[in-house]
Amino acid sequence: MITHTLVINCGSSSLKFALINAQTQDTTLTGLAEKLGMAGACITFKQAGQKVELTLAQGDHAGAMKAILSYLDERALTGSITAIGHRVVHGGENFHASTLIDDSVLAAIEDCARLAPLHNPANLLGMRTAQACFPGLPQVAVFDTAFHQTMPQHAYLYAVPMALYREHGVRRYGFHGTSHRFVAAEAARMAGIPLENSAIVSAHLGNGASVAAILNGQSVDTSMGLTPLEGLVMGTRSGDIDPGLFGYLASALNTDVDGITALLNKQSGLLGLSELSSDCRELEEAAANGHPGAIIAMEVFCYRLAKQIAAMVVALGRIDVLLFTGGIGENSPFVRANVLNKLAFLGFSLDAAANDAAFRGKAGRISHADSTTALVINTNEELMIALDTAALTQGK
Ligand code: ADP
Repeated sequence: MITHTLVINCGSSSLKFALINAQTQDTTLTGLAEKLGMAGACITFKQAGQKVELTLAQGDHAGAMKAILSYLDERALTGSITAIGHRVVHGGENFHASTLIDDSVLAAIEDCARLAPLHNPANLLGMRTAQACFPGLPQVAVFDTAFHQTMPQHAYLYAVPMALYREHGVRRYGFHGTSHRFVAAEAARMAGIPLENSAIVSAHLGNGASVAAILNGQSVDTSMGLTPLEGLVMGTRSGDIDPGLFGYLASALNTDVDGITALLNKQSGLLGLSELSSDCRELEEAAANGHPGAIIAMEVFCYRLAKQIAAMVVALGRIDVLLFTGGIGENSPFVRANVLNKLAFLGFSLDAAANDAAFRGKAGRISHADSTTALVINTNEELMIALDTAALTQGK
């Protein structure tokens, strides 16, 4: 009998879901409910190349979950679901791994909401709604932060008064952990080296972007911090800035912390620099046509990325594999070539033909045989969540 895991990624106004076949690891169904709690709430299902789009009569998260349930009922799929896996953004120091959800886990996730006030409450809503719609099914929480809990203290502490760490949890947590964990294992397999004896730098480059240093399968450093704002230049996020900017802008723009935080999260990064777009593909095209903003935005993006990758090698002590993943990492030969050329001093030599061939789902090696290994790996966070969920719920 075919069994499935339902994977749920619940945001404040959206609910992304996937149904993963537990035997073959194939994705049977994906979908997205959008504009929840607003006018025009709708849900889209994609299955076997077909797309079904529905307006939601009940336009909240519960309405979306009920629509998923009735879609599954109509196709006799509900009975095949054995467990539900949830993406949770922040597990703080409470969670070092994925975990079965019970009341104490829900309370601990609620406790972490002070660290991720936009995300954790939405994730909790997803869990409670799923519990109501699918009573009796075991549910698992998979945290973006958990993989990075192996970082040593010298990597996760900020040089601020220790009381802020003890009393307010101020430290670097890191994100994208589910993706970094998945692609590091894939990369070791592709490179033919044991994960337990490997030094991998993983570059997850999407609208949000982070690098991670992964030593023997464990995260030892990463570029994101207390929040996902730290580190690389991203689509609309600034990444690293001088924290003195807050005081300076508060008086220069006569604005407050919320105004500056929004500016750094939503109007900065590729968008802010280019004054054109946050979208890497659009900027590459504009740069090729000579748009000065696009050219400098892409150069700052690549330079900062190369610098952060080199910094991760300090954490590892050596580098066996550099991998690129995420929408940009998997699809942009331009970014990968630019970055590898800057990292020639680490032994990288780009195989230009292989690099140009690696996009739209084609993974593989993009460095010459005598080079330090550079790979393109397709990430699959939903599958990683499904695998964790299956591992924790089998026999339950
Ligand atoms: P998210 O972090 O929202 O999941 P994705 O991983 O889907 O984002 O990545 C989105 C980014 O990938 C966008 O900047 C987009 O322009 C970029 N991207 C997708 N395809 C290409 C391409 N062919 N060339 C360059 N960039 C691309």
